[in-house]
Amino acid sequence: MFFIRSLSSKIFQKNRNVCNALTNNNKRFLRKISLCGQYDFDLLVIGGGSGGLACAKEASSFGKQVVVLDFVIPSEKGTTWGIGGTCVNVGCIPKKLMHQASLLGESIHEARSYGWNIPEPVTFNWESLVEAVQNHIKSVNWVTRVQLRDKKIEYVNGHGVFEDAHTVIAKMKNGKERRITAKDILIAVGGRPRYPEFPGCKEYCITSDDLFSLPTAPGNTLVIGAGYIGLECAGFLKGLGYEATVMVRSMLLRGFDRDMVNLVQAEMEDKGVKFLIGKIPSKVSKQPNGKLLVEWEGDENGQGEFDTVLVAVGRKALSEELNPSAAGLEIHPESGKFITVAEQTNIPNIYAVGDVLHGRPELTPVAIQAGKLLAGRLYNGIQDQMDYDNVATTIFSPLEYGCVGLTEEEAINRYTEDKIEVYHAYYKPTEFFIPQKNVKHCYLKVITLLEAPQKVLGMHFIGPQAGEVIQGYAAAIKAGLTFQHLKDTVGIHPTISEEFTRVGITKRSGDDPTPQSCCS
Ligand code: FAD
Repeated sequence: MFFIRSLSSKIFQKNRNVCNALTNNNKRFLRKISLCGQYDFDLLVIGGGSGGLACAKEASSFGKQVVVLDFVIPSEKGTTWGIGGTCVNVGCIPKKLMHQASLLGESIHEARSYGWNIPEPVTFNWESLVEAVQNHIKSVNWVTRVQLRDKKIEYVNGHGVFEDAHTVIAKMKNGKERRITAKDILIAVGGRPRYPEFPGCKEYCITSDDLFSLPTAPGNTLVIGAGYIGLECAGFLKGLGYEATVMVRSMLLRGFDRDMVNLVQAEMEDKGVKFLIGKIPSKVSKQPNGKLLVEWEGDENGQGEFDTVLVAVGRKALSEELNPSAAGLEIHPESGKFITVAEQTNIPNIYAVGDVLHGRPELTPVAIQAGKLLAGRLYNGIQDQMDYDNVATTIFSPLEYGCVGLTEEEAINRYTEDKIEVYHAYYKPTEFFIPQKNVKHCYLKVITLLEAPQKVLGMHFIGPQAGEVIQGYAAAIKAGLTFQHLKDTVGIHPTISEEFTRVGITKRSGDDPTPQSCCS
């Protein structure tokens, strides 16, 4: 300790101006003496979500001094949450839990046909679900804080704004400010729901930021927007027993395979979700009875009363809020996101990962992988680059849709129709028979190059546990999966995933892709 103190004293003399904040706190003390020459930290991460935390933890495992700034600006309805970002607090996790709650409701009814005696009435309580979900989230927030402490990563609950390319001002909730410098800075600030412009929108509508902690049951809900978040929310709300209507300007799930999207919509309609297609909301107002009157325009104008209106028309990156120009940072004029090469912005010491990247998938595992690899390249000499191609994903609609690789439309665009083959099949999950569940939307598709060895370009699957089914095939595609590999693979019977090893009918043939029996 004496040696450390005398060493620090020498550095202190040399860098008096930078070191004036040196404290006796051991942890900070050691950090300061190793870095005081130039910056407070090796790496400053703005945004404690999926990408930021992954990069911070990896950098610290390579011995780097890291600080993470995380701050949640309250939603228009005043909702805020803890560390961990969108996925943990208002995204993937609460969404999946509510989806699961909805599936369980279905299972309770199916269970009767499997011999279970379940007395009527089976009831559902929104408040209990919200409490369970929020308790889980809080436990994840807590574990995250503990992990940061154990890894000696400093956590600052402040909103970061650039002063220059190496300096960020953290603005705390109590109005205090802290100036922090770092050699490298990572932007991982993600995004927030976008509000469309129409009277009453911000005043009366909620977003996904508010839904998972909504204190009272949402009741009859209008979801404005038919991206995956809108459809998932409408799907689980209907499954939980609330009326759900989706209003969409043009098409559902833009960018996804059209055959699959049509089946997702048909299944949702069969389950009772209503769709208002080709409509744009023009006004929301509160009625004397407390209901929300929504007026819309389209081929025919109309209006309807709802208990809750949820807007899910896309997300806006939180880049402008960082005062990027102070650091010389450029952002894409249309998306408002950072354009990066190997996650490096136009300012060499400033990097970005996650939802704030222009033209990259907005998914948690993408942010995490990019963050980890970046730390490895910066601080551990690895060369590996993030591969943004063939990232699998799943829409957690009532009947899930999982996919990886190209859609049929993209494959045709890229290779032309006569150079690709599309194999497809409807299938009947064994467990659907006894409760006589609807099998008519259980469908899959494999898109390959026509020429041998028929490299697989895309795989699409609608059915239960679609994410679990598609994940393994995503690894196979990374490893160069061909159609012959699929044919050579012996399936696990009776599963739904085995259907990919049985598919043999091409769209081109015009043959009926409906199965004759389950076991031939
Ligand atoms: P985030 O996780 O958003 O983290 C950014 C953090 O930075 C936030 O805590 C934010 O408050 C903070 N911050 C912002 N600005 C500042 C600042 N200036 N200073 C300090 N802190 C700041 N992805 C999936 O892979 N699967 C799913 O099933 C899935 N479902 C989703 C469902 C919903 C409803 C939503 C909204 C998203 C879903 N996503 C899903 C997307 C996923 O949540 C995001 O892709 C992921 O969280 C992005 O991580 P990130 O690190 O870029 O940003």
